[in-house]
Amino acid sequence: MVICPHCQIGFHPRFQVCPRCGNYQVPAEEYAQFLKSQIVVEIESGCSVRDVEQMLVDGGFSECEATELVAQHARRGKRRTRTRGFGRLVVGGLALLLSVPAYFILKIVAIGLFLFGCFALPSGLYSLITGRDSGIAPPDFVQGLLDAKRWIK
Ligand SMILES: [Zn+2]
Repeated sequence: MVICPHCQIGFHPRFQVCPRCGNYQVPAEEYAQFLKSQIVVEIESGCSVRDVEQMLVDGGFSECEATELVAQHARRGKRRTRTRGFGRLVVGGLALLLSVPAYFILKIVAIGLFLFGCFALPSGLYSLITGRDSGIAPPDFVQGLLDAKRWIK
């Protein structure tokens, strides 16, 4: 929120100038901050890297800064994907381990755990190494088997 000193009204920095008097300009720093916060929003809504860079350049950043800011965002995203991949790897490994004792208790659960592990483990490993989400996911019927153990009890 930016306050126009002439009109004493608060307005969103995306307007760049006070929407009432049109005289007061949003401080450059404030607008830059707003644009940076838009990188995530724009990329997640499916805008291309090129478009987002262009938005930053239009907003007063240099080409270099724009490229660097978008790259920074991509690096952070990769890190998040890796963390999620590691989680899947661990869960997949545990599922495989648990499927062994589960086999002696309830075969259907063991099969579910085993199949789930077979998908989760390589998918997690892939994300961990590449920083990308893999298309490998357990099919719905496997997820269904895992859910089944809740109501079998
Ligand atoms: Zn104003």
